[in-house]
Amino acid sequence: MMEPPHTSVNRITFLIGGEAGQGITRGGSVLGRALTRAGLHVFGANDYPSIIRGGHNFYTLTVSGKEVYSQDDMVDLVIALNKETALLHLHELRKGGGIIYDERIDFEEGEIPEEDVKLFPIPLTDIVKEVGGPPIMRNSVALGAAIALVGLKTAPLEGVIAEAFAGRENVVESNVSVIRMGHDYAREHHEFEGRLRAEESSPGRIMVTGSEAIALGAIGAGCMFYSAYPMTPASAILHYLISKDQETGMVVLQAESEIAAITMTVGASYAGLRSMTGTSGGGFCLMTEGFGLAGATENPIVVMLGQRPGPSTGMATYTAQADLLFAIHASQGEFPRVVVAPGDVDDCFTRTVEAFNLAEKYQIPAIILGDKSLLESHKSTLPFDAESIEIERGELLEAEEWTGEEEYRRYEITESGVSPRIILGTRGATMLANGNEHDEYGFTTIDPIGVVAMADKRFRKKARLVDDINGLEPVKVFGEGEPDVTLVGWGSTKGPALEALRLLGGEGINARFVQIVYMEPFPSEAFESAMGDGGRSMLLETNITNQLGRLIKEHTGARIRQSLRQIQREALQPGRDRRRGEEAGLMASIRELDTGQKNYWCPGCGNFGLLNGVKRAIARLGLRRDQVTAVTGIGCHGKTTNYFAVNGFHVIHGRVLPVATAIKLANKEQTVLGFAGDGDAYGIGMGHFPHAARRNPNITLVVHNNLIYGLTTGQTSPTTKPGHVTKTTPRGAFEEAINPISTALASNAGFVARGYVAEMDHLVDLVEEALRFRGFALVDVLQPCVAWNRINTYQFYNERVYKLGESGHDPTDLPAAYERAEEWSERIPIGVFYKVERPTYGDNFPVLAGEPMVRKRLDGGKVAKLISEFA
Ligand code: SF4
Repeated sequence: MMEPPHTSVNRITFLIGGEAGQGITRGGSVLGRALTRAGLHVFGANDYPSIIRGGHNFYTLTVSGKEVYSQDDMVDLVIALNKETALLHLHELRKGGGIIYDERIDFEEGEIPEEDVKLFPIPLTDIVKEVGGPPIMRNSVALGAAIALVGLKTAPLEGVIAEAFAGRENVVESNVSVIRMGHDYAREHHEFEGRLRAEESSPGRIMVTGSEAIALGAIGAGCMFYSAYPMTPASAILHYLISKDQETGMVVLQAESEIAAITMTVGASYAGLRSMTGTSGGGFCLMTEGFGLAGATENPIVVMLGQRPGPSTGMATYTAQADLLFAIHASQGEFPRVVVAPGDVDDCFTRTVEAFNLAEKYQIPAIILGDKSLLESHKSTLPFDAESIEIERGELLEAEEWTGEEEYRRYEITESGVSPRIILGTRGATMLANGNEHDEYGFTTIDPIGVVAMADKRFRKKARLVDDINGLEPVKVFGEGEPDVTLVGWGSTKGPALEALRLLGGEGINARFVQIVYMEPFPSEAFESAMGDGGRSMLLETNITNQLGRLIKEHTGARIRQSLRQIQREALQPGRDRRRGEEAGLMASIRELDTGQKNYWCPGCGNFGLLNGVKRAIARLGLRRDQVTAVTGIGCHGKTTNYFAVNGFHVIHGRVLPVATAIKLANKEQTVLGFAGDGDAYGIGMGHFPHAARRNPNITLVVHNNLIYGLTTGQTSPTTKPGHVTKTTPRGAFEEAINPISTALASNAGFVARGYVAEMDHLVDLVEEALRFRGFALVDVLQPCVAWNRINTYQFYNERVYKLGESGHDPTDLPAAYERAEEWSERIPIGVFYKVERPTYGDNFPVLAGEPMVRKRLDGGKVAKLISEFA
């Protein structure tokens, strides 16, 4: 049944629909921006399937002289770019509403109830043909006609078109001309009751989506590193930030996976940059271990989690609020976090700034919980107040030199629970971050007293965190007086709730809306005070299991019995002994590179030789300890950071390369070395290896290749050769082994080498050469595991290895490198297989020019200009 006609002047809802590829969202947003410029309030929402061409798309734009918080259910004017749109949306038309369509479309008799619906045929195709334009220009004609029907002039629309196609004068001209033709035609041939009144002087509102507002908030907050993997509905943030990277000076990059994205973000944060990533539920499932790494290592990061319906891929382009409890509980173990859920574009901007401040002040991860509806819908609003932004970086020591009387302790036990951070590369101090439980210096520990002390330290932050959140209006109340009914909601339910207050008020019902903005820590007191005696209450959330309701009950005991839950289709100083006997600023020697920590590697393990070789190379290069960062994965090699007195980051399994890459981008002056086991690099981390090789960051990866899993007590590894009997291959391995050398060559690595721990001088030369190389360098090191590998022993290698450098091999000859890479029988080559420099990944980032990123000051001031571009 159709609703009665829309009687209030100055509120019109348009629906523009057609096939994917017909420019539906663009058309809708152009109309929305034009009407915003005309001084009207707008709210625009798109609806599209997850396909590129074909399929039905539509964009709903509600326009009014008063603020619009959400789109209306009913439509006044349908702009049908195909017949399907007209028929599909008939039931949404208000009585007296109309359809603008191409006069070439024929409706069957009875298809349209003409007594209730006005038909506005326009020669869309003919007008476009007249100016020789492409078919997509039909929507410009239709927009011109729509503007005419609601009694407005074309000037704002023409202005928006001129900016959208700036520099392409012929495109601007032809579009303006068809807009005018459509406008004239509609005025001459049709009449419509609905009217919009443009303001005499526009208050200069902007029209933005939630994604754009979050991106602007991140820029305003001084975010300097954003890494993400494309995923609806988070991709728009990536697209916007990368389009503005040179203006903002932010490093923005598309990672090879969500795992890489979040571990890069943690790596950049470790170095000292404000860092952020964004994804949706499926991507956040992959990110949870990295999220825990941020929690354990106390590296502040911000994650934008854009919800969409799940489980699994669910409906990629629709909206839901079903990841609330997931966000609050994600990752193993316990650590404090912030989860904030903005409800509209203004919240998106301000709450993003708050998320960065809280994350850095308390050195914790923060989640901005959005959803498709919030992130992709346009809303007009006054320009965000860039002047009011205050950046609070907490206890971050930004001095270039460590002047502390004692050695720096990354995880110093403090009363507040917050341990002062330093910028990676601070002269005279090294910093060890560790995803394993650790002591104050960052060294791995299982000492029960130390473990409890560290866990308590982390959680001591929470009291002050709660106080801070209470000062940030974590619960907002809309509506006044004694309410008959109180609506309670979060996130994008805010818009519909505010519209509901308006409608209920019109019917004499006193209603309030309580918006919960901070979900973790949950603002219990603020919530209870907001609820007071609010009459009947009703929960609004877009999930089945009443997630906000469960959270309220858990924290306050209150139970809101009535709920409207809808699945909307639309809707670490490493080494307390490190500085002993040395003064900061001295060049590192082998002894100085020893942390003094007890070593737990098996006697005779090749790891000793490998680490010794690396230390000798570092000493030869004359690098200070604070100029070198070692990133290690999980496995026996992972303890390297405990034994190597440079900056260190012991990360999670397989994620050495993204973290090392981000650290190098954050501080290009650091010499960054990644250490990984063969399982770490070529098994779980294989998703990063070819990408690091092709991407070419100026880092060196040293792989402890022992052809077996050591720490987990002797299972097959990706490099285990066929026939090898291990605990998991009792009949002998039957899978082909990964060949790291040829894999690196095929991935376009610029420096590919193999070393052997018992050829020490040769190994030192190789590592030195790799460290001097500009670009990604692989040194795969034959490292006998004396505990578990009885085949690939010292004797095995001593009988077989020969040096490429003594065999006439030309390391610039790629085919020859492939040929040598295949040798693994009576003779096994070691040395440089291939070496050709090309521009590094960092060379391709203009924003990396000049000082290292970590020494650049946060400058959120650039955001004011960017905000104005949305007017
Ligand atoms: Fe070395 Fe193997 Fe012992 Fe691990 S298990 S420390 S790799 S010998």
